[in-house]
Amino acid sequence: PFIEFIHPEDRSMVAERYIARLRGEEIPPVYSFRVVDEGGNTRWAEINAVVIIWEGKPATLYFLTDITERREAEEAVRRSEEKLRRYIESSPDAIYINDLKGNFVYGNSAGERLLGYSRREVVGKNLFDLGILLPEHALKAARLLELNAAGKPTGPDEFELIIRDGSRVWVEICTYPIGQGENTEVIGIARDITERKRMEQQLQLAGRLAAVGELAAGVAHELNNPLAAIQGYSQLLVSRNDLDALAKKDIETIYREALRASKITKNLLSFARRHEPEKRYISINETVEKTLELRVHQMKVNNIELVTELQPDLPNTMADFYQLQQVFMNIAVNAEQAMADAHGKGKLIVRTQKVDDMIQISFIDNGPGIAEENLKKIYDPFFTTKDVGKGTGLGLSICYGIVDAHKGRLYAGSKPGEGASFFVELPIIQDGQQGQGG
Ligand code: ADP
Repeated sequence: PFIEFIHPEDRSMVAERYIARLRGEEIPPVYSFRVVDEGGNTRWAEINAVVIIWEGKPATLYFLTDITERREAEEAVRRSEEKLRRYIESSPDAIYINDLKGNFVYGNSAGERLLGYSRREVVGKNLFDLGILLPEHALKAARLLELNAAGKPTGPDEFELIIRDGSRVWVEICTYPIGQGENTEVIGIARDITERKRMEQQLQLAGRLAAVGELAAGVAHELNNPLAAIQGYSQLLVSRNDLDALAKKDIETIYREALRASKITKNLLSFARRHEPEKRYISINETVEKTLELRVHQMKVNNIELVTELQPDLPNTMADFYQLQQVFMNIAVNAEQAMADAHGKGKLIVRTQKVDDMIQISFIDNGPGIAEENLKKIYDPFFTTKDVGKGTGLGLSICYGIVDAHKGRLYAGSKPGEGASFFVELPIIQDGQQGQGG
């Protein structure tokens, strides 16, 4: 019987179809199954049946074709496709495919992680409609597609993208067109370089601060002596008895202004000197509390609600108490002023917590926030949005220097209109240790 040549696993399927055919039911005219050859090897057969009249009776004529090689080739292609799909899915870089108009056809899981969108939300959509491109980068993206249309690969090109939660990431993109003409598809590989960009920007800022610092130190130093002389002589003058009241008042003004000027030069010097912190093993919670104590009264006056959330078991670390106090004070006062000026009230949340192997101190206010274009400038010396006489623009650059000298990080985030958040991150250094490289 023919059934004995069929592979045991396929026998019932073939038998069912055979019976169905006898009953005159619809079955596929061509299908395949496995047979076992004389040597016991499995081979693939494709069967094609035609009903004929044989010696006056209806019969079925079967054509059996050996399709083993075709099946094996198909299987090999399927396996290699599967392998390729796995490579692409497990790539740490975002990999995507789009057509020449920028419509997405495919995106891998790294792409989903990078953008925060699932591929279902992206596939079928157009690159220019998704809202991930900054307007100023749209032209650049269009130019890359033009190159792709001309059959050229591109990159690496840097783009800043807006991801689902509204934050931004920097990516480096390489593209490769595949195919020809209208049907060309473009494979894109996008590597997340946000961290590298941040480091570059920090280095640039540190360099700029150092250069300005040197200049400022020189100027401040030169100004100190004449300012001391102005203060000294004006005090001498005021104490003389042969001057009328009006002249005395003017001289007092001269004295006061000279005092203010020397305060500015002191600030400049402390910004420029960047002296090594004098580190002791201290509690950050205590440092925060002692700093805020100094502001409690003024905050009440300014209608500012202060909320502290200090992680109780926060580890101690090696740090300079006074320098950190200066940092926390500056950040808190900035928040206070911003909220008071904008709304006449506000809420400042000060939080400490251990994040990975760092201590993070956050100051979150609900003031006016900081405009996107200013976020990068606030650490620049002399950058201030405050009125002349009110702000020097040195506060945050000094803070930056101090936190940097502690091998920590200072950064800020803001949604304009919803307030600003400042984060200080300090490494946890055991008693007596100086920290890496310190
Ligand atoms: P200054 O306080 O003298 O202006 P800073 O370097 O301390 O100098 O601050 C620079 C600028 O950063 C401020 O002028 C202000 O525009 C902005 N800024 C800092 N903190 C905040 C905040 N919490 N909310 C809004 N703007 C802020």
